[in-house]
Amino acid sequence: MRGLLKSMGVTLAVFARKPVTREYPDTHRPLPERDRAFPLLLWDHDLDEPFCTGCHACERACPVECMTVLMKDNPNHRTQGGDSTRRKIVDKFWIDYARCMRCNICVEVCNFDAIAMNNTWQGHETSVYDRADLIQDLPQLLAEHKAGAIKPWVPQ
Ligand code: SF4
Ligand code: SF4
Repeated sequence: MRGLLKSMGVTLAVFARKPVTREYPDTHRPLPERDRAFPLLLWDHDLDEPFCTGCHACERACPVECMTVLMKDNPNHRTQGGDSTRRKIVDKFWIDYARCMRCNICVEVCNFDAIAMNNTWQGHETSVYDRADLIQDLPQLLAEHKAGAIKPWVPQ
């Protein structure tokens, strides 16, 4: 009898315990302030063009080879009658988010401050049915910063 009461007590204690599970996707766990998401490209609002010169440094440094960069002559360069000092500029850029391991190396090696880790990402929402949909092209990589949707970065 004593054993029965003891086991019932354990059952009741577990029954009254606050649940540890979350009702995802209705309830999201807040991400840490310094959460590092995926890289994106930054937009030079003064010159109305990307900061990226297409120099390939990040592409060569990426340990999982998930970046592809193409450059072109900048039509906005001073020699062409424009305002930009960038002789070369990015033409095409792809990052495969399905392969990116969010290591930040591409940001570290960029000499033009043209790429940064996105700090507005709500991680769980990147799910897609087709892996190919995780390959981001140049307009997609530039869109958030161009629209001013990126939060100020937390100083390291
Ligand atoms: S964060 Fe790392 S893995 Fe992802 S694109 Fe940059 S260098 Fe490659
Ligand atoms: S993001 Fe930076 S390192 Fe990568 S191609 Fe553009 S300028 Fe070069």
